[in-house]
Amino acid sequence: MDYKKRMEEIAAELLKHQHLYYVQARPEISDKAYDRLFDELANLEKRFPQYASINSPIRRVGSDLDNTFPEKTHGVPVLSLDKLYHPEELGQWLLKTAAAAASNIGFTIEEKIDGASIVLYYDRGELQYALTRGNGLLGNDVSANVRTISQVPLRIAESSPLAVRGEIYITRPDFECFNSGMAEKYANPRNLAAGSLRNLKSALTAKVPLNIFVYEGFFQNESIPDHLDILQRLAQLGFRVNPRLGFFSDDDAKRLQARRMFPAITAAPLASVQEYLRRQAATRRELPYDIDGLVVKVVEMNIRQELGTTAHHPRWAMAYKFDSPQGRTILLDIQVQIGRNGRVTPVALLKPVALSGSTVTRATLHNQDYINMLELGIGDEVSISKRGDVIPAVDDVLEKGDSHPSIYKIPEYCPFCSTPLVKEGAHHFCKNDTCPERRRRGLNYFCAKEQMDIEALGEKTIALLFAKGWVQSIPDIYSFDYAMLAGEEGFKEKKIARIRAGVASSKTRPFARVLAALGLDGVASAAANALIAHGFDSMDKIIAAAKKNDWEIFAAIEGIGETTGRLLVGHFSKPENLQLISSLKEMGLKFATEEKAAPRINNAFAGQIWVITGSLAKFIPRSLAAAEIEKRGGRVLENVSTRTTHLLRGANPGSKLARAEKNHVKIISENDFLRLLRKK
Ligand SMILES: [Zn+2]
Repeated sequence: MDYKKRMEEIAAELLKHQHLYYVQARPEISDKAYDRLFDELANLEKRFPQYASINSPIRRVGSDLDNTFPEKTHGVPVLSLDKLYHPEELGQWLLKTAAAAASNIGFTIEEKIDGASIVLYYDRGELQYALTRGNGLLGNDVSANVRTISQVPLRIAESSPLAVRGEIYITRPDFECFNSGMAEKYANPRNLAAGSLRNLKSALTAKVPLNIFVYEGFFQNESIPDHLDILQRLAQLGFRVNPRLGFFSDDDAKRLQARRMFPAITAAPLASVQEYLRRQAATRRELPYDIDGLVVKVVEMNIRQELGTTAHHPRWAMAYKFDSPQGRTILLDIQVQIGRNGRVTPVALLKPVALSGSTVTRATLHNQDYINMLELGIGDEVSISKRGDVIPAVDDVLEKGDSHPSIYKIPEYCPFCSTPLVKEGAHHFCKNDTCPERRRRGLNYFCAKEQMDIEALGEKTIALLFAKGWVQSIPDIYSFDYAMLAGEEGFKEKKIARIRAGVASSKTRPFARVLAALGLDGVASAAANALIAHGFDSMDKIIAAAKKNDWEIFAAIEGIGETTGRLLVGHFSKPENLQLISSLKEMGLKFATEEKAAPRINNAFAGQIWVITGSLAKFIPRSLAAAEIEKRGGRVLENVSTRTTHLLRGANPGSKLARAEKNHVKIISENDFLRLLRKK
């Protein structure tokens, strides 16, 4: 059997059926018959990998191999569009453009899908590669992920080179359904679509129900005179073209022709453009997918040529955006912040912009994945918003700057200690425990209001003390002679006295606060309180359990769990942490919860030493009986000795009873005990 030929036959057959199913929505064979063909090809590809095509329909299911997304140069101009925010402005732009032309020209109005922009490159009838928009000159090669999108044709009946621009998107119902099952939720369908294109494993992308609409085609060996002809050709080649299309021209013949080509098109004279724009804007929520505007384009290619482009935009097209961005500004730089636990947070430094009553100069960028999703680079014009009115966020790139590389990359090394940064999950980390920035952050955390509450040691003062080398670690806070600050600007006697008083009073903070203030991973205030509530009321007890490597005893505590349990064992068996704790103990910080001394009632039991054995009927637990003895000046010990004076005997006493009898200790029953308590 000619396996190579057979594989090609099945591949062609499967691609045909994929197209019928996913693009045309009219399947011709049963799922079972399809699966049989698919399995046959999958098996053959395993046996003869040398015959497998890069565009085999098997690629639709993706792979578990890690993707890399190398930058590639775009083969066609990938310009962004100029934008207007009012239908009137757009109507005027359109009329002006029409008036400048020598003849009656036509315009399409297309939906601006809110998804991820993509450029597909074909040659010899095969999809060669797919690039993100990037900065318009360079994009990232996301081919393996794009090949999993069933609506993207892998083979086409066009042998000369062709580039196709389109938008990858997910419908709102699919988004709701898919996102609800995700551990890390996406904020909106656009973020999910863009994020999916950058999945490290294409098998994951294959699971996301992604769609595509294409809207521009660049046929290399052919000049097609009209945009509508191009759209029609693309549709004939198997691409999905959005049927919701408007066509506006004062040329009757052109309108007639447009209707013939696209029966669902709205074709009307120029005068009705504004009404159309308004209607589209008003009904956009009824669509199953998000659109953020409409795009108006001149259809005649020769007119497009004449109008040309500016440095950034074509002059023959204009976007009408429904919502003006809440704030638009320029990304001046990106600062890498390292937290006390080593987590890296990229922070956008923005050209100051007014936004809902305040001036915004910084915004969070979360992590590298978020930056990749936005294809964000320094110098880009961005839109920002305040979500829930807290920390401003960069939402979108409005206009790429001329930055290179087009996407900002978090540096490979920690900017503070030069340790290589490590990516874990979505975030990068500096894993160096002695990183100066992590230590400085740790000091801030220790002194903050929620922890030790040393108000006079604010971030600025700590930064100074740290830079001078005076306070490098937590014990330094307690050993440093603050008189040395006297020479520094802004440190008058009063301020220094306030620092001293703050440091001194922090020694009275309870154990739970001290434990959390150490800033150990997983041991914030909730975990500290849970430990204490479950009997780990002193550092010694915690260290003793850690020494036994007994993470399970921690994990059993409600609110701790296995991960934190293991972290606790790690933290409290590390020599440097034990050293830190013992230094702080010496300095007078509290490492045990205070036992509340019971108020004394009288001295009836003064000088007596009691031991309790067996189970008591009235005092459950037995510690209640012990408390009564202590309230009357007596002491309670665990074991009988020669010093023991009284034994409180409950039911089923243990070996303590025999011992007590041998030592001639007074044996007291529970009833006698109650009688003694009533005595004054
Ligand atoms: Zn570092």
